[in-house]
Amino acid sequence: MAKQTIADVDVEGKTVLMRVDFNVPLDEECKITDDRRIRMALPSIESVIQRDGRLILMSHLGRPKGEGVEPELSLLPAAKRLEELLGSDVDFAADTVGKDAQTKAAQLGPGGVLVLENLRFNPGEKKGDAEFAQALAGMADVYCNDAFGTCHRTDASMVAVPEAIGNKPKVVGFLVAKEIQYLSEAIANPQHPFVAILGGKKVSDKISVIRNLIKICDKVLIGGAMAYTFSLAQGGKVGKSFVEEDKVDLALELLEAGGEKLALPVDTHCGDAFSGDCNKQVVETGQIPDDYQGLDIGPETAACYAEVVKTAKTIVWNGPMCVFEMPPFDEGTRVLAQAIADSGATSIIGGGDSAAAVEQMGFAKRVSHVSTGGGASLAMLQGLPFEAVELLDDK
Ligand code: AMP
Repeated sequence: MAKQTIADVDVEGKTVLMRVDFNVPLDEECKITDDRRIRMALPSIESVIQRDGRLILMSHLGRPKGEGVEPELSLLPAAKRLEELLGSDVDFAADTVGKDAQTKAAQLGPGGVLVLENLRFNPGEKKGDAEFAQALAGMADVYCNDAFGTCHRTDASMVAVPEAIGNKPKVVGFLVAKEIQYLSEAIANPQHPFVAILGGKKVSDKISVIRNLIKICDKVLIGGAMAYTFSLAQGGKVGKSFVEEDKVDLALELLEAGGEKLALPVDTHCGDAFSGDCNKQVVETGQIPDDYQGLDIGPETAACYAEVVKTAKTIVWNGPMCVFEMPPFDEGTRVLAQAIADSGATSIIGGGDSAAAVEQMGFAKRVSHVSTGGGASLAMLQGLPFEAVELLDDK
């Protein structure tokens, strides 16, 4: 069901506690190497500021131990970057629910912004601790969730805080609203033909997604290294390709369940080393020589999959078809990205590596939606309910 968004709440003079995803990559000097996640949250942030709301932003960054401050995982660089992007002051609290946070939250004026320190420095965040949640919720009049990358989790800031906020408004931000619109609603009610493209390294990561999509899609196209586990299951020769030998039975089960709907590569572009400079050959599926490894779908597979994509009305893609980071083994992913861009279908690209591939290859603006959440988009494609979203106010 559609959720109320931050635009539906009168925030003037109110304090909005917004869960954002500022889990940005940092280099060794703690400099942000990619600020996309901060920029993606700007529409919701600006919507509160422009209407004279007081804004408290909370996020996690990395995987601290939950035993206090780890300076290299501080959110201070993210707060500074936000300040640059907004072109106005952003305050920073050196704790999450301690004295500094409480004092600075109380001092916020209309349109003021405060970023709290990394939520996961507090052990209560991962544990979903009610007391920690109450302390956060106590600072606010409105709760807003704009952290799609964490929506499949039940950390305190995602579930216990909106629970603790009680009858006050609890809404989604624009980013989460858009993710739900595409990943959940478009998938619940797809236009057919509905085609899924699944790649990446491991079958084991995507079993539940494959199981769910086989039920609702017209065709599921398999690529990436996980195709070799399927090939092995069918008795093929996979050489030195990456395979999960212990998942062969599972691959057989998925083949049986998928029947005609599940398409596997017919050829493979392989090399005699994991390098763009290696000796290369294209072979039929199941015919990879002993000292070669599969690194891309072959040209016939790419052309065949592109034909299927051409006729689709809804496309979801999760996981690259190949080692797209290592040309010339990026070709299969490129051919499919081009076909998706040309298709005119509603096209949804899962987060993580497929999103990176589409961005890197310059197709991001030619698809309907590039998800910001890897794990979260996979969970939505599995059809799993998200507690963190379900408990928010309905439209
Ligand atoms: P995943 O995180 O499971 O979506 O996997 C993404 C990773 O799978 C990317 O880093 C790709 O380089 C890698 N990958 C895709 N195809 C292959 C392949 N044929 N051999 C090795 N790695 C691959």
